[in-house]
Parts: sequence; structure tokens; C-alpha cells
Amino acid sequence: MNVFEILDGMGHEQVVYFHNKEINLRCIVAIHSTVLGPALGGLRMWPYATEAEALTDVLRLSRGMTYKAAVAGLNLGGGKAVLIGDPEKDKSEALFRSLGRFIGSLSNRYITTEDVGTTVDDMDLIYQETDRVVGVHRVHGGSGDPAPFTALGTLYGIRACLQRKFGHTDVGRCSFAVQGVGSVGYHLVKLLRAEGAKVFVTDINQERVEPVVDELRAEAVPMHQIYDVDATVFSPCAMGGIVNEDTVPRFKCKIVAGGANNQLESNECGTQLEQRGILYAPDYAINAGGLMNVAIELQGYNEDRARRMVQTIFDIISRILALAERERIPSWQAAERIAEQRIHAIGRIKLPYSRQFKDRYSGRRPHTMSSE
Ligand code: NAD
Repeated sequence: MNVFEILDGMGHEQVVYFHNKEINLRCIVAIHSTVLGPALGGLRMWPYATEAEALTDVLRLSRGMTYKAAVAGLNLGGGKAVLIGDPEKDKSEALFRSLGRFIGSLSNRYITTEDVGTTVDDMDLIYQETDRVVGVHRVHGGSGDPAPFTALGTLYGIRACLQRKFGHTDVGRCSFAVQGVGSVGYHLVKLLRAEGAKVFVTDINQERVEPVVDELRAEAVPMHQIYDVDATVFSPCAMGGIVNEDTVPRFKCKIVAGGANNQLESNECGTQLEQRGILYAPDYAINAGGLMNVAIELQGYNEDRARRMVQTIFDIISRILALAERERIPSWQAAERIAEQRIHAIGRIKLPYSRQFKDRYSGRRPHTMSSE
């Protein structure tokens, strides 16, 4: 694998390997872009079969974070970390504290948070060694579980889609097919039901379905039939790749809008969806509520501010959909264009070395003045 060639193609700034043999730490941090600010992105712990697999994953995920932060209007760049290991067996205090020291050594270039395979408790261990971690427990000034904010942002994004498609934002007049009722899906169903919407749900795990049916009065459907449900909105809240060659012709919905990451198996599938007249809310834009919530932590966490920021997802999705319509391009492409234009524009206004110059020479100033 020629790493520099891959980095050239994907546009990464930096890839760092952390290694500590004694505690079996093997972690790769990829910093895709710091044009807008420090690269923020989760720490994924996974038993990758090969190092190449881990590298491919971290490069792809970190690039996604750049677009997510850019489109969300945050002053953050894109990064991600992958920790090679089994989250069920290989965790230890030493592992995460060692990782915390390494992350601290990157100064302010990378900020971590939880992701698949890691928890708030793991973030607390990292926090013992560096403050370049968000999503720690509330007792440390953290923001807690991001899922309710991801779900809330998804609701605002859904309203923006309804506005564009039907000229109203009344969720209660619509029906929904929600795939996956885990952390995000559960909170989304709760919000939809509170507005009086009819909601169909499914999950691979029956234990997750029961409370949603009993408590929230949603209707359960078998897993493989969720794509065929005649609902206004199909809302993916489980895994990625569910908009694909098989599902696109099956959808009866008018809108695909949900919290899951990487919903499109390929951009081509996103285009096909729109050719069928189905509106698509780009996943990384509609599910940015969790990222907004942890980003607030960097300035001192305030839940009201987080909620107000999450509301802006209505405007973000509206802007993407308006651009798509005006330029006659699919919404996935409109979202990419908005993100890239922002990164390009902000990259041009910065004076890259001005900060370092000030820090480097500030200590000399008294000497210069006294000699004048
Ligand atoms: P979760 O693990 O709590 O929930 C996922 C649910 O999907 C589980 O209940 C699981 O049983 C179910 N599921 C898995 N495969 C399924 C299948 N084939 N069919 C139906 N159900 C299936 O995870 P989560 O935190 O709710 O995240 C859900 C999605 O949202 C993921 O794609 C995640 O990357 C994305 N996301 C989450 C957040 C967040 O704040 N948690 C933020 C941004 C994006």
C-alpha cells in the first residue's frame, strides 16, 4: 500500500501511528483537514483483521468528518482515530491513559470523542491525561449522551424536507418508517410520536422494539419489510449502505431522512433515489446534532445553546435542498459543494503563520522596547 499516494488522492494532512508494546496499544489517527479548526472525530475500537483495513477505515471516516463539520458551520476540521483491539476484551485503564498522552502530544490538532466500541467511561480515562477529548461525563463538564441531540437535529432536518416537498412542516400529518430503534432511533420515534405522527419501526433486536411499541405506540414491522412500508418518510437509524441497488426500486416513501451514517451505498444510488422523485437529506448534514452538542463542550457546555445550535439543522438542510433544486443536482452533491466551498473560502482568509509568529516572538518584545 502506497500511503502517500492514498493521502494525495484523499487530501489528508497527517496520519499518526501510536504504539505502546507493553500495553498492546496500536492506534492510527488520521487528520484529514484542519483548515476550519482542530480536527474532531471519534475513537473507534474494532478488532480489525489487518492494519490496512484499519488504515482504510480511518482515512474514510476522517474525511467524512471534515465534510460534516464544514456543512454544519462549525469551526472544526475532520479527524478520526481507530484503536485496533476487541472492545469486549482488550480495554484497560492504561490503554486509554496512554492514548490520552499521545493525543495530548498532537497539541490542538486532534480532539477525540466516543465512537463505535468506545464509551463515555473510556473518554473519562483519556481526560485524565489530556483535555483534547469531548463527550466526557457531565461531572467533568461533559455533554453526556449525544443521541437525543442527533435525534432532535434529525427531526429539524425532516421538517426542512417536508417544507420543500409538501410546503408544510407538520410532522403529525405524516407517516414514518424508522429502521433501527437504538439510541438515536428511540429518541426520534419519541419526538415523532409527540407530534402525533404514525410511526412504523423495525430492529434486528426484538428487545429494542418492545418498549417502542408498548411505551410509544409505534407499529412493529418485520425487518425486511421496512423498505416496502407505504410511509411519507423512510428514516434510516441503524447501519449504513441501506440506499442501494436493491432498495431504491422498492421504496414507497417520498423522503429518505434519518440519523444513520453512510446511508448511500454509492453516490450513484443517491442520484437514482432522486430520479425516482424521492428527496434525500444528506446523512452527515441531518445527523450533525451529536457533533454540534460535543462541539459546545469545547466552549463550556450549555444545553440550551446546544439545543439552539441543533435547530440550525433546519436551515442547513433547507439550504442544501434549495441549491440542489436551483442547480439541478442531487442533494448529496449539493451538500458536498457547500462543504467544499466553505473550506476553500475560509482557507483563503487565514494567515497561516500569524499565530505562531506572535507566540514565537512575544517573549522578545520587552527587550526590543528597552533597547529603543
Ligand atoms: P445503536 O447501536 O444504539 O442503535 C442501532 C440500532 O440499529 C440497534 O438497536 C440495532 O439493533 C439496530 N440494527 C442494526 N442492524 C439492523 C438492521 N439490519 N435492521 C434493523 N435494525 C438494525 O446506535 P445509534 O447510536 O442509535 O446509531 C445509529 C446510527 O446513527 C448509526 O449509523 C450511527 O453511526 C449514526 N449516528 C449516531 C449518532 C449518535 O449520536 N449516537 C450520531 C451520528 C450518527
